[in-house]
Amino acid sequence: MMEERVDGVRERRSRNTKLLEEFGAEKLNGGCYDNINSRVDPIALKGTCDLRTSMIDLEKLLHSKNSETQLEATRKFRSLLTLERDALVQEALDRDVVPQLLEFLKDKSNTALQLEALWALTNVAAGTSEQTHLLIKNNAVSTLVSLLDTDNEEILEQAVWVLGNIAADGISARDKVLATGVMEPLLQCMKLNKKISFLRIATWTLSNLCDGQPRPSIKITNILEAVLWVLQSEDTEVLSHICWALSHLCDGPSPHIKAVVKANVCVRLVELLDHKSWRVVKPALRTVGNIVCAEDDQDYTQQVIECGAVPWLTRLIQHPNREIQKEACWTLSNIAAGTTEQIQHVLESGSIAPLVDLASKVVDADPDVKIEASWVLLNATSCGSDAQINQLVLSGCVAVLCNLLQDNTMVMMALEGLEKILQVGEERSGDGINPHAYLLDSSKVEELQKHRSSAISKRAIRMWKQYFVVCAICNCAYSKRSPRLKYCLECKCNVCEKCDCSIYHLTYQDQLWKSISEGEAEEEKAKLQNKKSKNKKKRDKVKQRKALSAFSDETSVVLKGIEKVTMTSDEPVVVDNYVDFLSNNGSILDLWKMMEDEPAA
Ligand SMILES: [Zn+2]
Ligand SMILES: [Zn+2]
Repeated sequence: MMEERVDGVRERRSRNTKLLEEFGAEKLNGGCYDNINSRVDPIALKGTCDLRTSMIDLEKLLHSKNSETQLEATRKFRSLLTLERDALVQEALDRDVVPQLLEFLKDKSNTALQLEALWALTNVAAGTSEQTHLLIKNNAVSTLVSLLDTDNEEILEQAVWVLGNIAADGISARDKVLATGVMEPLLQCMKLNKKISFLRIATWTLSNLCDGQPRPSIKITNILEAVLWVLQSEDTEVLSHICWALSHLCDGPSPHIKAVVKANVCVRLVELLDHKSWRVVKPALRTVGNIVCAEDDQDYTQQVIECGAVPWLTRLIQHPNREIQKEACWTLSNIAAGTTEQIQHVLESGSIAPLVDLASKVVDADPDVKIEASWVLLNATSCGSDAQINQLVLSGCVAVLCNLLQDNTMVMMALEGLEKILQVGEERSGDGINPHAYLLDSSKVEELQKHRSSAISKRAIRMWKQYFVVCAICNCAYSKRSPRLKYCLECKCNVCEKCDCSIYHLTYQDQLWKSISEGEAEEEKAKLQNKKSKNKKKRDKVKQRKALSAFSDETSVVLKGIEKVTMTSDEPVVVDNYVDFLSNNGSILDLWKMMEDEPAA
């Protein structure tokens, strides 16, 4: 009876956070802003000085009433922080320098002083969480947000930078920044200010504001309006930050993903998969991946496919950056978990051959990339149509799935996939050979029948019974429909082409036993004449003959031979066992094996 077909339903897999590195928000200080284009604080003190003494002096100067002195002190303080930030930030915080610097920010008539104070605060905000929270405690956020309406581009840029550093500290700091209503003025500035240096910092800050789990509560439509405009930028750094922001938004609640898809950003995102810089490709790819695996009533995979994503994803699985390779495979695996039309896109993109290569790679193989590549093939096999499965088999998928049988986390799914492949092969074979069973390493399935997980062993046993047979002589496994194996009607078992069962056939045995019995009859005759003690055996022989009379003539001939062989062993009881065996419809071949196994008398 044909077993029920394995169903082809696969859930899309959310990202395995253990496998895929998280890109946490990073803080940037004025002295080492080297995110993409290195940006060095223009002020740098030459030579060394006693930092502690300098700090005590500076604190006094910062509190001076003279604005020139204040400016000079702030500038010096900023440069000290640039050079010796780690050593001095705590010192500065302990000395109550921060409230004074924040005070300087409020003086809108002295932009030079504002700017120097902002630079110093940027470096403080780039410090530890404790240091950042001291800024928050001093109400730095609202003071900074109030600067976003300035006409001075430098001040605007620097204020956004400090806010970005504070938001990068973690979700608590991020939410405090968001709570001050930073988003609206920030997005407004992004729309109005087209200066690249500002957009770089603004998009970086925006991405920090969207980052972190749990996701922040934000009005996504307002953000998307600005995002759409910024996405058209040609600047690598701006594109990188804005794509990271989008990837965070799409890693959030499903209404966010829905809004992103509805905002028509997919076309541009797919275009960016082909960007020359991996800094853009990586977040664009991550966003596309997040959209594809969205857990929503609506499936957005189709939109992503219609934007032409699959061919680009296929190119990215061969990217030199392993993170990108892995992410591209993961995204493709989720597309391959879709409808047959969606799987067809994956097949037609030419991705299967490189995926099989990645999944089968032994030398210099990245285990994570290998597994993600295998997932694509596994999902396509589980969800594909018969024709698609045939194509996957022709591309070498069977070997890949067989390799997965050794991986405890993948073995069950690999068995499912292989079972589906065998089913399809069975349908292709008609009455002939199952072309897929040949390709399968049956020893692996055989081994799994003894797996410690009963679900796995049951599945393996079921598969084994349905698709494989063992030669009764050499014990080698063959596919059930293999032409190299024949069912011998006389032996009533399967025998492979390498083995010969004719020596067990009755015609052969008949001849063999005839010659043995002639020789033995004479010997026996002599013994009977000489020893009366043999009478007991003779009586047993009569007893056996009676028992045998119930069998057919052919069987009697065999038993006659057996009986004679046994007669010399002084153990007539063994013969009883053989008779019982045959009368219970045991095969002659098995009986012969049994006799060979009996210990010699
Ligand atoms: Zn054999
Ligand atoms: Zn035979």
